[in-house]
Amino acid sequence: MNVTELSRRLRINTKELLDILPEYGFDIGKKAIKIDDRVAQQVMRKWRFIKKDIDQKRRVEAEARKEKEKELRKEMGKTISLPNFLTVSDFAERMELPVTNVIMELMKNGILANQNQDIDYETAAIMAEELGFTVTREGEEETIVDDKSADLEEALAGAKNLETRAPVIVIMGHVDHGKTLLLDTIRKANVVAGEAGGITQHIGAYQTMWEDPKTKETRPITFIDTPGHEAFTMMRSRGAKVADIGILIVAADDGVKPQTKEAIDIIKAAKLPFIVAINKIDKEGADPQRVRTELSQHNILTEEWGGDVQMVDISAKQNMHIDKLLDVLLLVADMQEDDIKADAGLPAAGTIIESHVDKGMGPVATVLIQSGTLRKGDKLVVNGEIYGKVRAMKDHHGQDLEEAGPSVPAQILGFKVAPVVGDVLDVGRADSANEIDVKQKKTQQTGAERTTVLDAMSKDDDEEGKKTVNLVIKADVLGSLEAILASLGKIRHEEVGIKIIGKGLGNITETDVQKAEGDNGIVVGFNVNATSVAEEMMQDKDITFLQYSVIYDLINWIKEELGKLLDDEKIVTELGIFKTLAIFRKNKGSMIIGGKVEDGKLIKGALVRIKRDGVVMGTGTVKECKIGQSSEKQITQGQECGAEITTKEKIQEGDVLEVYSEESKVREIVFE
Ligand code: GDP
Repeated sequence: MNVTELSRRLRINTKELLDILPEYGFDIGKKAIKIDDRVAQQVMRKWRFIKKDIDQKRRVEAEARKEKEKELRKEMGKTISLPNFLTVSDFAERMELPVTNVIMELMKNGILANQNQDIDYETAAIMAEELGFTVTREGEEETIVDDKSADLEEALAGAKNLETRAPVIVIMGHVDHGKTLLLDTIRKANVVAGEAGGITQHIGAYQTMWEDPKTKETRPITFIDTPGHEAFTMMRSRGAKVADIGILIVAADDGVKPQTKEAIDIIKAAKLPFIVAINKIDKEGADPQRVRTELSQHNILTEEWGGDVQMVDISAKQNMHIDKLLDVLLLVADMQEDDIKADAGLPAAGTIIESHVDKGMGPVATVLIQSGTLRKGDKLVVNGEIYGKVRAMKDHHGQDLEEAGPSVPAQILGFKVAPVVGDVLDVGRADSANEIDVKQKKTQQTGAERTTVLDAMSKDDDEEGKKTVNLVIKADVLGSLEAILASLGKIRHEEVGIKIIGKGLGNITETDVQKAEGDNGIVVGFNVNATSVAEEMMQDKDITFLQYSVIYDLINWIKEELGKLLDDEKIVTELGIFKTLAIFRKNKGSMIIGGKVEDGKLIKGALVRIKRDGVVMGTGTVKECKIGQSSEKQITQGQECGAEITTKEKIQEGDVLEVYSEESKVREIVFE
């Protein structure tokens, strides 16, 4: 028997077979072409055992290799940082593994995923750890790629005459738990009466004055008033450190919810000192003790129970215990005294906390001064470039400021180019900085802004002029929202696009429905529901509402929707040429003509292009074709016939009719 025949029967590569046979006592030589029939029979009989043995050996070898790689990585201290979500192929690339291996590994873990599908951090981390990597979560590792904290620290260094500054507070918590109302109530609690004047403006932060319960002195407190975690997370993801203390707000009638957990994670990752405000205690069903218990399950233990977190029960609506909350804030600030200091005598340094382009005023940005003092005329040095000069500064009442010292939020006019939230302002570097190239920066900036996913999707000017699927997307947590927007951002097509007309966290509300209604949008909930009012509205107004809990499914659905937007493909088939030899009659909307089929066929029901001297004059349809008195379905090449053509065009003798058929076909969408 030929060895190749044997290997074919055993389903093994010939060379491999020749290599292993000697190990099992069949000495036929490594280059043998033929094998004795008797020996071949023996091999076949024993093959089951041999095969089992080989497989076993291979498994052991593979394990050993894996272990070795693992050891090697450990020795080399290979650390990998993974985001909340990433595609299988991206993961494979980072692991320096073939995609197929990763897909197989996933399958072993019961996950069926193709290379474009997103896997979450937990799944990716387990696999990476199995392969010997030390895994960190992106954004939690010490060094962040786009790290602004180093810039800021540099800017803050050199301070000598340190003085206490206002503590900077950020409020975080689940949607609807009362962040906005608390910010408003605190604003009104300002003890310096009559100072207000002007209309309150949201410039990204405000300062309020509060009497220190111990010293009776009036002290300023700065609040970042961009509710929601988005802005804060965005700043933090860029390495910016703006807040000194966090307030975790939890509604007493609702308890710990997904964004509460997310806020806890953010606070912990930022190592931010914080207090808890248990809000809405005026409400029926409010149970502050239950909130304390739930928080304890997240290792946040109130002082009353032997923990180290201060908790205050409040009602932002009825202004209950807001005074106590502010007292506690000052107390916590005093405990952090050493960190909450700055030198007002230096050139200003701080972080951009709000930035936009005003139609009338041009770029407007709010900077939170963190060291030194900013004055009119100062050069605005951002990222080492001079972005402009301070023309005017305003506070949150819209009143002019002559100067802004540490912890003061100031809205600045004078930027030639809008900086990005999280950028560091460092006036001290004015001497070594170059003037910004406005034109170049504008193009660069679009790129830079794109990296901030949440921001990017809202300015989708390149989708202009395309047919779009308009979406209002709500998700349970920021991580998912970011992942969804990032995935959507990757979907690019020349003719169709996605427009995000609304996005946010929490259940779908009337506001979301209104947004969808105005723009013919579809409402998508990711792990969230719609309030009953919103649900009714959507039914009434016939607005599509879809719920997803797997990003992959959402993306697939979107791709299908985009496909539906594409115009159908027209498939044209040329059928024949008909030459007009005589005009018999002109009816309303049709003509009866006579002529000859010069090529192909003239078919009843087909379309025609009417050509005169090579120019298309118009189109029509073959309504009828007749030879003598008999009506024919089709007339073939060489035959003469009469035909009725439905057309608006006036056909003349000598006109050539190009006969064709047209079929539309749904186009399959292919992404760039
Ligand atoms: P945010 O989404 O966290 O900013 O929450 P909001 O400040 O917008 O508040 C959500 C809803 O809860 C609003 O209708 C508020 O009026 C209401 N609310 C906030 N604080 C209280 C409170 O202390 N008591 C009661 N009864 N309602 C409150």
